[in-house]
Amino acid sequence: MDSNKAATQLLTESQITALENAFKAGDVEDRGVVDAGQVQFIVQQVLGDVLTVSEVRTLVQKGEAVGAATGVINLQEFKDLLIDLLHTTTTRWGALQTSLDGYVGFDTVLEQQRKKFLKKGFEFNLMVVGESGLGKSTLVNTLFKSKVSRTSCTNEPPQKIPKTVEINTVTHVIEEKNVRLRLSITDTPGFGDQVNNENCWLPIYDQINKQFDKYLTEERSVVRRKQIPDSRIHCCLYFIAPTGHGLKALDISCMKKLHDVVNIIPVIAKADTMTIEERDAFKDRIREDIAEAEIKVYPSSLLPEDEDVLQANAPIRKHLPLAVVGSDRALTINNKSILGRQTKWGFVEVENPNHCEFSFLRDMLLRTHMQDLKDTTHEEHYENYRRQKLSEEVGENNGAGA
Ligand code: GDP
Ligand code: MG
Repeated sequence: MDSNKAATQLLTESQITALENAFKAGDVEDRGVVDAGQVQFIVQQVLGDVLTVSEVRTLVQKGEAVGAATGVINLQEFKDLLIDLLHTTTTRWGALQTSLDGYVGFDTVLEQQRKKFLKKGFEFNLMVVGESGLGKSTLVNTLFKSKVSRTSCTNEPPQKIPKTVEINTVTHVIEEKNVRLRLSITDTPGFGDQVNNENCWLPIYDQINKQFDKYLTEERSVVRRKQIPDSRIHCCLYFIAPTGHGLKALDISCMKKLHDVVNIIPVIAKADTMTIEERDAFKDRIREDIAEAEIKVYPSSLLPEDEDVLQANAPIRKHLPLAVVGSDRALTINNKSILGRQTKWGFVEVENPNHCEFSFLRDMLLRTHMQDLKDTTHEEHYENYRRQKLSEEVGENNGAGA
């Protein structure tokens, strides 16, 4: 212990801080401990490649010895371990000390951000649009009931979504591994039910803009909340009827009105009513129609993409429009409850990728593309709204002044 004390005195306060920061960065779950096996990586992060192979080996062995009982190491043990290491490798002490000095710890910023996000939780707002009877409400129920929420606890028991007569938002809080997700889904009114459907996109368009306006008002208020509640629609699922004939005029006009204010993901409703060949042919038709009408669907091909993003988006582009099946009934097969549709000739499993693309859609929305959908909403759609709104105001003020 005496030797440790001597070594402690050899370290400056900032060097000790560097050690502590590195430890904290490794302690992702804020438990005050790190896995014994992780010590090597943390040390390499602080010291770079100054250590020789045999020194690393000694370190790993010592780390394992310290953490033998519990498998974890706390901050004090970590510091002792390093000081011990620095002390025993006296010949290169200077080099070690210098790199410890040089460790700034920018990378811990990322870690801090991650922790902050986890604590804050996520908000995600989805909207479903399409003609009545295409299975929108059913799909919303399916989303809530499928694996996302089934493996985790929801705060409120799932409510049955009423038949849609007006714009109607249902929110669920889903919790998974200490991460909270507030998932809100907006169902839209008797879209396409009128004799004249020319303006049926308007209430939806207004609803989207109303949320932008709410956000803008909050953002501009003098005393503003630390975290503005985000009710902006991050994604709109547009339901296409499984007709086999391509897009209807109503679909085209509606999507063209909405594509500048929201991320649109087209889906083929009730895909179980088509055969595989019909489905593929129908998809091709829809893709042609979308291209011809110059409808912008998510992920937008107009925004610059780097290699990673391109790779993540390629499979989605290939699959769009996603052919989905919804069901709020589960059947118990082999003691497992499976969501699906029982028909006279078989059982269509909603979450089986061989049967439909529901699980693909769910994963895209809630796992792989959620942040990107939110970013695009904020950086593209909201920004457009904001720019337009503010420049209108400037115009008005100038007009009044003149
Ligand atoms: P909404 O008006 O778009 O909200 O449609 P609903 O969710 O109320 O569904 C209308 C009808 O279609 C109901 O009888 C559902 O059981 C049925 N339905 C919903 N999803 C599917 C599906 O994927 N395939 C089939 N075959 N029927 C569906
Ligand atoms: Mg409905």
